[in-house]
Amino acid sequence: MKIINPATNTVIKELAPETKESVTNKINLLKEGQREWQAVPVADRLKVILRFGELVQANLEELAALLTLETGKPIQQAINEIRGAHSRLVHLEKNTEKWLSPEVMTEGATREHIEYEPLGVIANISAWNFPYNVGYNVFLYALVAGNAVCYKPSEFATLTGLKFEELLLEAGVPENVFSTFIGAGEVGQYLLEADLDGYFFTGSYATGVYIATQVAAKLVPVQLELGGKDPLYVMDDVADVKQAAINAAEGAFYNNGQSCCAVERIYVQEAIYDAFVSAFIEEVKGYKMGDPTSLDTFIGPVTRPQQIDLILSQMEDALISGAELRTGGYKVEGAGNFITPTVLTGVNHQMRLMKEESFGPIIGIQRVKNDAEALQLMGDTEYGLTAAVFSRDKDRARAVLEKLPVGTVYWNCCDRVSPAVPWSGRKHSGLGATLGYQGIRAFVQPKSYHLRD
Ligand code: NAD
Repeated sequence: MKIINPATNTVIKELAPETKESVTNKINLLKEGQREWQAVPVADRLKVILRFGELVQANLEELAALLTLETGKPIQQAINEIRGAHSRLVHLEKNTEKWLSPEVMTEGATREHIEYEPLGVIANISAWNFPYNVGYNVFLYALVAGNAVCYKPSEFATLTGLKFEELLLEAGVPENVFSTFIGAGEVGQYLLEADLDGYFFTGSYATGVYIATQVAAKLVPVQLELGGKDPLYVMDDVADVKQAAINAAEGAFYNNGQSCCAVERIYVQEAIYDAFVSAFIEEVKGYKMGDPTSLDTFIGPVTRPQQIDLILSQMEDALISGAELRTGGYKVEGAGNFITPTVLTGVNHQMRLMKEESFGPIIGIQRVKNDAEALQLMGDTEYGLTAAVFSRDKDRARAVLEKLPVGTVYWNCCDRVSPAVPWSGRKHSGLGATLGYQGIRAFVQPKSYHLRD
């Protein structure tokens, strides 16, 4: 398996992917290891995980450089991701014992209490776009709860996945409690065929549905963190139109638009539409694109070369139907998966750009008359991950946000995740939740005790 630098299209490394046999052997070891790990007190498991967090911070520069090398994420954003992901460890430190401890429910002649047992050996099939964030959401929470983890990094973030294993073991996670499974979809398939106790997936809707279908008969927990087509509505009462445009552009183009909760569609109320669009385009034109190892680069290459064709085809489809290209719109000649940040106006919901996930540096901005029209358009999607409203009026924003079938809503912010609250998608954006206390309980199963002397 070739690991390729998306900024240069050169091969960084070649690795042998797992075979069916190596997958089976590793899983057998994990099953043994899990039984011992489960017996380790929660507080001790937590200490090991916190030590891992310290090791990551101590190696931050080297890890960020590796992330940039294999995904093309601009180095400053790689550093931000690794620093930001640490918030999961802080969340676990504060909350794990509280949510995993036994709970006494009734006292008396018959006493009833609940104990929380780990699921067992679970699969974490992961994505490449934020490997620290989406990885930590699953494997750290799973480990602290006493599970063993089959971690399958994306084939586009393999080297980072191997570093997770190295540092977890160095921190004190036993060798047969966490294993990395190297490879693409076929290695994921081996995990689906194995006898595991839970499947935690981050990736596309298509793969998520396939996984859920494949493992359905096992009747084990399946959690899916999938894609989105997240809308942002800018109301005409925003305090500062220019600042709203700057924030919206960052929500759309941070990490090159390759965030599950990136702003993928913008609706702007007509009174401020022209001012917003011109400030937005000015901001996007100012983004520095280029070498992702430079600290001042904001737009690097897209990670997967095939995404360029998808983005350009969404753009062509919109242009044929009357959209206007305001900036960007082409692949940069030469080595590397560089595509200029692309903004279209005059868009509508007959265009693929406003309906399909783009997962890259392209955005459509649509003019709307009022809140009712914005609400109708925001809800016109198969997805249900996040939705945002920028407005001075909290009640007015809330009246829109509370009606949308999404897992997360934002008022005057967007494109953010916090470990304090659950992260969950509705409709085609997923099933189940990570983070929050729900994300701790996701990795355990309750056992009810009824006790009589
Ligand atoms: P993907 O579905 O192509 O791949 C995800 C993982 O599934 C990879 O590890 C891949 O090797 C594996 N896989 C592929 N085929 C498989 C199979 N047949 N059996 C088992 N495993 C298989 O997605 P991606 O390109 O890595 O990630 C991008 C998608 O992830 C986007 O849609 C994005 O929105 C979504 N995402 C969602 C969240 C969230 O929290 N909701 C976070 C990050 C990314």
